[in-house]
Amino acid sequence: MKTSPLKIDLHVHTHYSEDATTTLEELVEYAKKKGLDGVAITDHNTLQGALKLAKKIQLTVIPGLEVEALGGHILALNITTLIPPKLSIPETSQKIHDAGGVAVIAHPGAVLKTGLRQKITSESNLDAVEVINSGAFPFFLSTYLSYRFAERVKLPQTAGSDAHHAAEIGTAFTLIDADPNLDDIAEAIRKGAVTPNGKPITWAQRMKREAFHLKIYRKRYSSKLSI
Ligand SMILES: [Zn+2]
Ligand SMILES: [Zn+2]
Repeated sequence: MKTSPLKIDLHVHTHYSEDATTTLEELVEYAKKKGLDGVAITDHNTLQGALKLAKKIQLTVIPGLEVEALGGHILALNITTLIPPKLSIPETSQKIHDAGGVAVIAHPGAVLKTGLRQKITSESNLDAVEVINSGAFPFFLSTYLSYRFAERVKLPQTAGSDAHHAAEIGTAFTLIDADPNLDDIAEAIRKGAVTPNGKPITWAQRMKREAFHLKIYRKRYSSKLSI
């Protein structure tokens, strides 16, 4: 039986996301180092890393995706089938629900997306709002806007590091009042038995991210040139 809330980072990428470097081995190592009970692996457009790791280890691994919906990113948690990108937010949420998962809007406070926040209402079919995202920039303003948004739409509040490199794992996490099994965790998020916690990634980590992104864009650009 549960004694204390589970400490879970609900937004982690692995090297199966093109823009991240964390191997599955590093993920386990850092999650343990940071004292996490579990992680949600939310790669872009692939479940490969999440499902591979979920089978192997003792750490609670919530398989998920970060889905690029029209007008925002949605975390699909506790799913085992791919959710297509480029659908509207209500359609994406519906597909996530049909797959038995939980739909969480990721980093809604990103300042450039003010229009998006206004369009989302309590009827948008979402289950929760990621109010703390360690990679969001500027962190304090976007966190404040995300909290305000979550209060307006009256949805549960989660946190995740959005780690793209191993050392970032656990910079934010959600305390979840649930037994350590996926259905219980999903239900606890839906009913709001969750408390967000966390801080921004360090400047050194942000610089590393930017440098890595630049490398990817360069690679993409040069491969286009050579075609
Ligand atoms: Zn995102
Ligand atoms: Zn992400």
